Amino acid sequence: MKKSGLFKLQGIVQHYEWGGFDFIPMLLGQPHPSSIACAELWLGAHSGGPAIVDSPDGPISLADLVREAPNQVLGDVVASRFDSLLPYLFKILDARKMLSIQAHPTIAQARAGFEREESAGVPLTASVRNYKDKNHKPEVHVALTDFWMLHGFRPLEEIAETLRNIPELRPLMPDFDARLSVAGKNPALRSELLRNLYERAMTMSQAGVDELLNPLIKRFESQMPSDKNEPDFWAARAAREFPLPDGHRDRGIFSIYLLNLVRLHPGEATYQSAGTLHAYLEGTNVELMANSDNVLRGGLTPKNVDVSELMRVVLFDEGVVDVIRGNDLGNGETVFPTCAEEFELSRIHCREDQTYRSGKRSGPDTLLVLDGEVTAAGGGEKLHLSRGGCLFVTQDTEYTLTGTSQDAVVFKASLPSAK
Ligand SMILES: [Zn+2]
Repeated sequence: MKKSGLFKLQGIVQHYEWGGFDFIPMLLGQPHPSSIACAELWLGAHSGGPAIVDSPDGPISLADLVREAPNQVLGDVVASRFDSLLPYLFKILDARKMLSIQAHPTIAQARAGFEREESAGVPLTASVRNYKDKNHKPEVHVALTDFWMLHGFRPLEEIAETLRNIPELRPLMPDFDARLSVAGKNPALRSELLRNLYERAMTMSQAGVDELLNPLIKRFESQMPSDKNEPDFWAARAAREFPLPDGHRDRGIFSIYLLNLVRLHPGEATYQSAGTLHAYLEGTNVELMANSDNVLRGGLTPKNVDVSELMRVVLFDEGVVDVIRGNDLGNGETVFPTCAEEFELSRIHCREDQTYRSGKRSGPDTLLVLDGEVTAAGGGEKLHLSRGGCLFVTQDTEYTLTGTSQDAVVFKASLPSAK
């Protein structure tokens, strides 16, 4: 069985109902619009949908290839550091509808939470199970289209202005202004105030939530907000997309006013580290994350919301969003740096007849062609890839990519070089 070199990879499409009908089928050269929502394309070895590798012995799962020869596939360092598992999960995501408001735990929180739920006998598949594994889940993503998201708490002065300007939300904390002036510039007091405000929104009675949100949403019904740059637009959409039984309102709508509303342009990225509250609202991206399923949700979801666990994990930091535009390495490659040790995401532009050289690498690479065509060569093999084509390269194999059309664009998931 072939255990090293270049492998063509076929991703697994996840048909979550919030997904779009066009982008992923178009990328894969399949008929579109699809009759079923195509939310994510997974190009990894995760047990929830391992990609399929073309090998000379026929198709096998990437998870099996890694299991058969972890040291060749991952390299000795990565195999021993990450328990012989591919440390990252590489995805394309197409959000037609909003995804839940969420935060991810640190490794320590994930380990403790996993042990706690195991010893309490909560089945892994139970809807109330928070921790599916013992890993953290940092994420970096690059927008492929205009991409709308919520990311981290807004500066408190902005929140104060929102509470002043939107009378329906003011009762959330009527003395917010006074408390903010007491907190002044003291970071600990400001963080505490933010925690109090969020906790109030997440723990008030359902009747209290309805009392605040009903008049706001009624107002939208008479004049539907149309500006995606305004939280009102997303609050109105959330009220439509996440109706609760018996006409109740989803308290996640408060977060739309408390978090930074971000519009990424194509090529712009953000990083979601542990504890950052965030939500994807609309758009298409390339996403790279640690291999984990640990998500604590804060509303806008039919799934379980465990407020006390969420309050433990969320960081009550305020500030504007750090939009990552990438570092141009001068060889056609732009890296989107983060502090994650499990992954590094980059974009490679291959002009016609120009060659990108991988050099020696820290771990295995996964490449996805988003535009144009390239020829990949390495380990005595040559493979041609066009739009939607995907390649997995084991750590022990250096390779080149040569553009065979104008302006080929390839996204690359890899391991950061050892620091
Ligand atoms: Zn997330």
